[in-house]
Amino acid sequence: MSEHASVARLEAVRAAIHDATAKAGRPADAVTLVAVSKVFGADAIWPAIAAGQRVFGENRVQEAAGKWPELRQKLLDAQGAAIDLHLIGPLQSNKAREAVALFDRIETVDRDKIAGALADEMAKQNRPLPCLVQVNTGREPQKAGIEPREAAAFVARCREVHGLTIDGFMCIPPIDDAPREHFSLLVRLADETGLPVRSMGMSGDYPIAIAKGATHVRVGSAIFGERPKR
Ligand SMILES: *Cc1c(COP(=O)(O)O)cnc(C)c1O
Repeated sequence: MSEHASVARLEAVRAAIHDATAKAGRPADAVTLVAVSKVFGADAIWPAIAAGQRVFGENRVQEAAGKWPELRQKLLDAQGAAIDLHLIGPLQSNKAREAVALFDRIETVDRDKIAGALADEMAKQNRPLPCLVQVNTGREPQKAGIEPREAAAFVARCREVHGLTIDGFMCIPPIDDAPREHFSLLVRLADETGLPVRSMGMSGDYPIAIAKGATHVRVGSAIFGERPKR
């Protein structure tokens, strides 16, 4: 893939986000694009950074640790600007230390053990990061995330027991379902819980997610192209 191709696709995704946001009657800055760069190397990612993209998502701590410190430094040296890196994949508690050191937001808090491990590390490193609770809106047994009906109580425990800053929800709808109902459910839970951030929508459905009220869309292949197999 040429650099030009990924930058052209990034521009197209930005334009589509702009259109969907306007069509929904929402303010122009209502939606943040999280560019999902998993599997791609630093050489494939840099053109997007050079084109002004600042918010990125990665789903594996180890993989992200291998490329992002260098990319961050490169941007800092070139433009004095910062990257906002989101963890969007499942976290093991033995990786909490590295995750807190590396990421700026954790989107996938989904059980007490992880909430506790993250809170401990944030205190130790004096790095209080904003977090999202992942909701398993399709109640799929193999998928990460808290059950929808337990979401509000879990948010309360994250805050009161663990002392985490939770400001929203994230979901990955089941692959075979129409995503609309899942986006609606996530928005309803966020409204009921009084949380402003809703991370939902990927390459195949982000305009729908924006229509439903997404504040963050996580878009990978529509920007970087088909992912090579790991
Ligand atoms: C890979 C991934 C995405 C991006 O998926 P695309 O379909 O390539 O846009 C979004 N969210 C999560 C959690 C992912 O793991």
